[in-house]
Amino acid sequence: MNYSEFRKNAHSLVDWMADYLEKKEIHSVSPKVSPGEIAQKLPDHAPEHPENFEDIFKDFEKVILPGMTHWQHPKFFGYFPANNSAPSILAEMLMATLGAQCMSWLTSPAATELETKVTEWLRKSMGLLPEWTGVIQDTASTATLCALLTAREKYTQFSVNDRGIFPSSPLRVYCSTEAHSSVDKAVKISGLGISNLVKIPVNADFSMNTQALKQAIQEDIEQGYIPMAVVSALGTTGSCALDSIEDIGKICAEFSVWHHIDAAYAGTALLLPECSDLIRGQEMADSFVFNPHKWMFTNFDCSIMFIKDPSALINTFAINPEYLKTSHDEEVRNYRDWGIQLGRRFRALKLWFVIRTYGVSGIRAKLRNHLQLAKKVKNWMERHENIEIIAPNELNVICFRYVDKYMKLEQLNILNAAWMKAVNDTGEAFFTHTKLNETYVIRWVIAQTDVEERHLQEAWQLLMDKLNELKDRDSS
Ligand code: PLP
Repeated sequence: MNYSEFRKNAHSLVDWMADYLEKKEIHSVSPKVSPGEIAQKLPDHAPEHPENFEDIFKDFEKVILPGMTHWQHPKFFGYFPANNSAPSILAEMLMATLGAQCMSWLTSPAATELETKVTEWLRKSMGLLPEWTGVIQDTASTATLCALLTAREKYTQFSVNDRGIFPSSPLRVYCSTEAHSSVDKAVKISGLGISNLVKIPVNADFSMNTQALKQAIQEDIEQGYIPMAVVSALGTTGSCALDSIEDIGKICAEFSVWHHIDAAYAGTALLLPECSDLIRGQEMADSFVFNPHKWMFTNFDCSIMFIKDPSALINTFAINPEYLKTSHDEEVRNYRDWGIQLGRRFRALKLWFVIRTYGVSGIRAKLRNHLQLAKKVKNWMERHENIEIIAPNELNVICFRYVDKYMKLEQLNILNAAWMKAVNDTGEAFFTHTKLNETYVIRWVIAQTDVEERHLQEAWQLLMDKLNELKDRDSS
């Protein structure tokens, strides 16, 4: 493809992209395909000869697109969203065009300096203390792993980086039973041993029971373990439960334990001054992660890690082979030393585009709208005698189920699973589930970039229709 063909193809792609974004609602939210169906339509071998763009694009529309889940559809209510937005997409296009490796200051000074600037903008806008320093990681999973590796290096008598962990690690990590699986993964791959991840029970609202945390730490110390880190959840994946950052912080301070806050989804709420209480106790935390790629309209991937002591992070990750040394190393940030990967994408650019396009006030308005819309949906549910909201919280994740006092938990679980499947099978909306205390609940996350009240009304109507159909079927 020469550059004049590139220009022509890019123009037609941008038209396609704008049409897609404008009319994304015409697609079925989830694809109607069976496992293996897409692969069957693809050739077994790479093409030997060049193919033209028109043919590749035709196959994209014919083979690939029908197999896609439309995450940007305003009625995609599952998991947590992976929101994009027009400015973020444009920045991604520029990033891809520049194709820069932003590992060191010298490899793209603007990328490094913009990263420092936008993370600092966000720190201030989110009401985080000046003691925090930001760095962009690819995902929250990586940030949590980085936090635990840094804590591991700090809390071992000798350097694990130098000598390895042997014979076995007495270091312990704590999180609630509702914490995200990325904590388990980080503990596993950091060599601490999954048996050293202590899962702390939760309260009725699914936040960590901090008395149980304290007790677990005390018992571990008595038994010779070294409590290393607590990962608190500011917005669990299941129900968006909010651990008490302050209470956990006090315990961590008392026992000199690293406190990492996983705010992957709900952290964005800190942009709202009225949500600042969520982070009360931040002065006692060591690291914090949130994902603009979830609820801040920034294309996947973009995760911001704030850390109090960047030198501990750098001490854990810095490697300085001759071929990477530069004459500026003493006076600049080389973000390659702030995490696992060497090569780094220019993620700050899309944040810059998003923040400038919406303005902080524009982002806040969108977040407030989501919270308002969630309140409306909760209100509809509260007025329905057979709908129960489980784990109510002040944000925009609603866990609900159908209830019937004559049905046992197991029957209800089966019915609610069938209900969600019936809704999802229509392709008109998409929900995902979890289990809270063995109770099957449907999660409704109201955070799409373009979600409006009419989408929620349509989804609610669909839920009610499918529920009635199921009940009619069961009673006949
Ligand atoms: N933490 C929480 C609370 C999450 O909900 C998720 C993903 O949904 C993650 C961490 C992992 O996020 P990522 O995909 O950025 O690694």
